Amino acid sequence: MGGTAMKLVILDRNGTINVHREDFVKSDIEWTPLPGALEAVARLNHAGWHVVIASNQSGLGRGLFDMASLNAMHAKMHKMLAAVGGKIDAVFYCPHSPDEDCDCRKPKSGLFLQIGDRYGIDLKGVPTAGDSLRDLQAGAAAGCEPHLLLTGMGAACRGVDPLPPEYPANTMVHESLAAFVDFLLVREAQAALQVAV
Ligand SMILES: [Zn+2]
Repeated sequence: MGGTAMKLVILDRNGTINVHREDFVKSDIEWTPLPGALEAVARLNHAGWHVVIASNQSGLGRGLFDMASLNAMHAKMHKMLAAVGGKIDAVFYCPHSPDEDCDCRKPKSGLFLQIGDRYGIDLKGVPTAGDSLRDLQAGAAAGCEPHLLLTGMGAACRGVDPLPPEYPANTMVHESLAAFVDFLLVREAQAALQVAV
């Protein structure tokens, strides 16, 4: 964990935690969790992991929804998550449209660098999971360990082995956020066992 004691996971939002929509998730009504995703976040929390989101929200820059709508989506997310005993510490988002050429829209790594600054940690080896290439490129550029989920846009990668060369070389693939969490917790338990032996 890159020399830090804080256990942190960085997640994408659309297609990772909630259902992806080709026409953008524009309101709290349209924000629907993926099956098992909120429970997966709660399991991470219970094992001592902090969870934050890094999300492109170009719908703001495109004028498809406003800040009040984004806040309502996240209020719904936090409330539903709390109901299953989970917590997301913070949502870092890029509000820009693609033509603004900002530094924070994934595949650029600006959101990840903001997270590293906020928590004062080195992101080397910090697990990050998302359903699209740009999520993993952004995370890997910041030193994170990339995990591709086959939910959302990631469904297009089902059965694709090896992944296309543009994916970070060390990308691991999981069926869903729940499967990714299973992987992390099993790996952690195995590491603890090795220490004990
Ligand atoms: Zn941006």
